[in-house]
Amino acid sequence: MKLPFAESWKIKMVEPIRMSTLEERKKWLAEAHYNVFQLKAEQVYIDLLTDSGTGAMSDRQWAEMMLGDESYAGATSFYKFEAVVKKIFGMQYVIPTHQGRAAENVLFSYLVKQGNVIPGNAHFDTTKGHIESRKAKAIDVTCDEAKDTQLEVPFKGNVSLEKLEKVLVENKGNVPFMVLTVTNNTVGGQPVSMKNIKETCALCHKYGVPVVMDSARFAENAYFIKTREEGYADKSIKEIALEMYKDIDAMTMSAKKDGVVNMGGFIATNNKEWYEGAKLFCIPFEGYVTYGGMNGRDLNALAVGLMENTEYDMLHTRIHQVAYLASLLDEYKIPYQRPAGGHAIFVDADKILSKIPKEEFPAQTLTCELYLEAGIRACEIGYMLADRDPVTRENRFGGLDLLRLAIPRRVYTDNHMQVIAAALKNVMERRDSITRGVAIEWEAPLMRHFTVKLKRL
Ligand SMILES: *Cc1c(COP(=O)(O)O)cnc(C)c1O
Repeated sequence: MKLPFAESWKIKMVEPIRMSTLEERKKWLAEAHYNVFQLKAEQVYIDLLTDSGTGAMSDRQWAEMMLGDESYAGATSFYKFEAVVKKIFGMQYVIPTHQGRAAENVLFSYLVKQGNVIPGNAHFDTTKGHIESRKAKAIDVTCDEAKDTQLEVPFKGNVSLEKLEKVLVENKGNVPFMVLTVTNNTVGGQPVSMKNIKETCALCHKYGVPVVMDSARFAENAYFIKTREEGYADKSIKEIALEMYKDIDAMTMSAKKDGVVNMGGFIATNNKEWYEGAKLFCIPFEGYVTYGGMNGRDLNALAVGLMENTEYDMLHTRIHQVAYLASLLDEYKIPYQRPAGGHAIFVDADKILSKIPKEEFPAQTLTCELYLEAGIRACEIGYMLADRDPVTRENRFGGLDLLRLAIPRRVYTDNHMQVIAAALKNVMERRDSITRGVAIEWEAPLMRHFTVKLKRL
C-alpha cells in the first residue's frame, strides 16, 4: 500500500483555542462594527485573517533567537541574514526593515515622484497605498484570465505583456519601475510563471524600466513553478528561486509570509546606486542599516526561516493543506478562485450571496456570516479593500469580491480545515435568507478596510 501523505514536522508546543457561543459572537461582532479587524483575537476560534506573521516557528528558529546579537551596528545576526539573502536571491545589497510595507516605504521614498506611473500585476494594498500617497498612479496589468474565478489555468497571477507594454509606451520617461508580485496575492495567491517573469523583465528593460519584485510569497511561487511549469520538476526550490531573481532589479519582502517569522522584512538589490539612495531613508524611518527595524534575534530567526521555507517538503506540506481545504469546498460546491492558491482559498462571495447588491458589500457580509457561524475570522479581499478612486472618490467595484481564507504556516491541522469547510457549507445552505449586506458608517481616507465602521442592513 502506498503510504498516505503527512506533515513534514511534528508538534512540540501547543496553544489552546476555544469555541464561543452564537450569542457571544453576535454581541462581539456588533461591538466590532461588523469589521472583523476590530475583534479581539480571543473572540476568534480559527483565525484565518491572514497568513502574515501568524506562522509557527521551528525549534531551530527559536534556538537561533537565543543567539541573536543585539549590537547596534555590525551585529553577527545581520551578517548571518545577509549571507542567506545573497545565497537565496543572488542580491548583494540588503536593507532590513520591520516589515514589508516598511521596505516599500523606504524604497519608494527614494524612487517614487509625484505624477509617476507604476504598473504591476495587482498591487498589494500597502504597495498601492505607498504609491498613491505619493500622488503617483498604480496601474494593474494582470492577465485577464485572473478575472474569471472558475477558469483553471496554472499561472493566473501572470502579467499581461500587452497591457504592460501599453502603459510603458504611453508613459515613457514617467515609469520609475514596475512591481511584479509573486505570488499575486490580490487575485487569489495565484503564481507567476518563470516564462512570464523573464518576459516581463525583458519587456521592461527594453523600455529602460527596472523591475521590483514584491516577494512576500516567492517560495510558494517557486513551488508552483516546480510543480506546474515544464522543465522545472527536477530543479530544487532554491535553484528556482535564484533563477526567478536573475533579471530582477530589486526586491521588497514581507518576511512575515515566506520568511516564517512573526515580524520582519527587507529590501535587496544589486543596484549600488539604489542601495545608497534607499539607505538614506532607512536610517530615519527604520534604523541603522544593519538592523533597520529588526532585532538581532529576529534577523537570526529569519535567516533560518528563509532556508527552511525554501525546502520542498515544507512547501509541499503547506500547499497540500490548502489544496485539502479546496477539495472539501469542491465536495460542498462552494465556488472559489480556481485553482487553489498557495497561501489561501479565495471564496467567490458574489456567487454565494448573489442577492446582495455590490453597494452592500457581499464579501464583507460573508465575512460576518462565517464568523457568526463558527467563530472563524476570514478577510474580505473585495470591494471594501478596493477602496475608492483617489480622484473621483467613487467606490471601485471593477474587481473581484472575494472572501479570503488565509492559512497560517504550520499552525492548524486538517481537522481545522474540516471545520472551516463545514461552516461555509452551513452558510451556503442558509444563503437564501441572507438578502441584505452592510453599509458604511465611517471610513478612513486611505486603506479603509482596517478601521471601517459598518452597520448591518
Ligand atoms: C503582506 C504583503 C505586503 C506588505 O507586507 P507587511 O509585512 O504586511 O507590511 C506587501 N506585498 C505583498 C504581496 C504582501 O502580501
